[in-house]
Amino acid sequence: MTRLKDILIARIDDTGPMTLADYMNVCLMHPEHGYYATRDPLGAGGDFITAPEVSQMFGELIGLSLAQAWLDQGAPNPFTLAEAGPGRGTLMADILRVTSIVPGFHAALKLHLIETSPTLRAKQQTTIGRSDINWHATFHTLPQQPLFFVANEFFDALPIRQFKRDGANWREHLIGAKNEALYSKWSQPLLIPALEYRLSDTHDGVIVELSENIATCATQLGGLINTHGGTALIIDYGDWRSLGDTFQAVAKHEPANPFSRPGDADLTAHVDFEALTIAAAPAKHSRLTPQGVFLERLGITQRAEQLSANLIGDALNAHIKAYQRLTSPVEMGTLFKVIALYPDGVTPPPGVEP
Ligand code: SAH
Repeated sequence: MTRLKDILIARIDDTGPMTLADYMNVCLMHPEHGYYATRDPLGAGGDFITAPEVSQMFGELIGLSLAQAWLDQGAPNPFTLAEAGPGRGTLMADILRVTSIVPGFHAALKLHLIETSPTLRAKQQTTIGRSDINWHATFHTLPQQPLFFVANEFFDALPIRQFKRDGANWREHLIGAKNEALYSKWSQPLLIPALEYRLSDTHDGVIVELSENIATCATQLGGLINTHGGTALIIDYGDWRSLGDTFQAVAKHEPANPFSRPGDADLTAHVDFEALTIAAAPAKHSRLTPQGVFLERLGITQRAEQLSANLIGDALNAHIKAYQRLTSPVEMGTLFKVIALYPDGVTPPPGVEP
């Protein structure tokens, strides 16, 4: 039994069954035994691999898109360059390297990272190698100034609640404990005002998901961008509107049971981009764009050709595989989607459409 399982069972014995959001929060974020607090989960030797770890091209193109958005908005100085959930810091390191050719960008930027894991903060310091990194635990403390923001596979790690339709009511997915084991159950039918709009597009037995954490982050982001200018590029897997059970656990690159070894598996859910944009209003949002289309529009094919000129043998094969992995519809190309937030009256960043 993991330490976290003991902690969860004690808490459930004390205060009753917990919501899926509370469960995810403890499993991922517990300061001592939480999944992210205790390890670097990324890469071949870890539990999963992300786009910036697949190829430098991902961060380069995102960096240039953000820099173009900064130029289009009159090159504000100073501005916040921020990333939420930077993992190993690879994406930000690639963004910083590629934008060093953009006149004035580095002189104006203030670097802010939103990260709770001490292990990953240390990793980010090493990868990024700057002495001026400002870390935050939440979005609330970001400075009141123009904000150019990126998050890749951050929102999918935020806790969700799950509900199953029952007439005009909803039963909530709860985690209980019996005989030293955790189990899932559905609550009594509840009236959930936040889900009233889902009564028209669901029927009995359908599962929908709701993330108060995503809404809080999106409201902060949208507010800063709408007030001070800037843009956000958000990349994640998910869809326009949540439908069905998307809660999943992954350990060592394989699906895992989310309740058997709490704290040892990554827990995620698909992002409901519609809910994210509603919470970010009055900031405007782009269309939801498949990652492959986004990267093609930004010139990934030309960049891939340019890089391949210096490669031979295994290195060349790995590079071609990485390009396919990021863009192909059967790999990350359509599973992952991109959405941008920006103020009213401003051109969205290159790669997405209004
Ligand atoms: N963006 C990186 C890593 C994705 S893993 C990449 O693409 O490789 C998710 C990241 O979000 C980790 O850095 C994790 O520690 C961080 N994270 C997860 N939940 C968080 C929360 N509630 N607040 C701050 N950071 C969080």
